[in-house]
Amino acid sequence: MGRRGIKEFRAPEALALVAADRDRKPLVCPSCGTATISRTPRRPPPDAPLELGRIALLCSKCGRSAAYLPRAPDPSRSPESPYHPPGAS
Ligand SMILES: [Zn+2]
Repeated sequence: MGRRGIKEFRAPEALALVAADRDRKPLVCPSCGTATISRTPRRPPPDAPLELGRIALLCSKCGRSAAYLPRAPDPSRSPESPYHPPGAS
């Protein structure tokens, strides 16, 4: 047995969750499918300056966690551009 209590998302799950947070979309656990993700620090208001430092995302239901370091927004992606989520037609 490894360390108990700490589970991490699989890489694709963590990437999906991080992408959702970067896009300021609702955070839904990619592993258990519930909206029980707690974000540390809390998501700032839209007019807040760019965050620096580690952002941790933890699902309080299944206990999986992910963390990432924010980067400057990609200038090629405009907030006004329509977003088509995978699977939507
Ligand atoms: Zn979960």
